[in-house]
Amino acid sequence: MFNFIVRLTRNIIYFEQFLFLITYFSLKMNHEIDRDLLLKEARKALENAYSKYSKFKVGAALLTKEGEIYTGCNIENLSYGLTICAERVAFFKAVSENKRNFVAIAITSSGNEPTFPCGACRQVLSEFHQNIEIFVDKDPKTYRISELIPYSFSEKSLGN
Ligand SMILES: [Zn+2]
Repeated sequence: MFNFIVRLTRNIIYFEQFLFLITYFSLKMNHEIDRDLLLKEARKALENAYSKYSKFKVGAALLTKEGEIYTGCNIENLSYGLTICAERVAFFKAVSENKRNFVAIAITSSGNEPTFPCGACRQVLSEFHQNIEIFVDKDPKTYRISELIPYSFSEKSLGN
């Protein structure tokens, strides 16, 4: 009887592990986008913001098609014009590691209102012609980059 219970328990554990793996891989295969997780990562990234001059912190988390997350924060400079936004930091980090396929980006800030990407970041995020989903903290709506920059500078503009 004891052996039976041990065997049964072991089989239940195996079965649960099997279910977990199936769920994990099906989520990965479907590239399900976890808005809350991405916003959480953006909030963590915000903590590293170097915003000595504006005191306005921004964090971003960019999700690749493969399920990896690249984060960024705003980095200011004494020469103000050299400041870079959190979204571009995340994007450039990912691209510098040969990532080219993106599905979503979450953005958060220390402000009380939702913080949307600036015009420069919208242009950068539209680089690979992917209609990336945009999650803006404190705004429940999901936006698409095509909505935020409908007439981006494109290869067509270069005559290509
Ligand atoms: Zn920006």
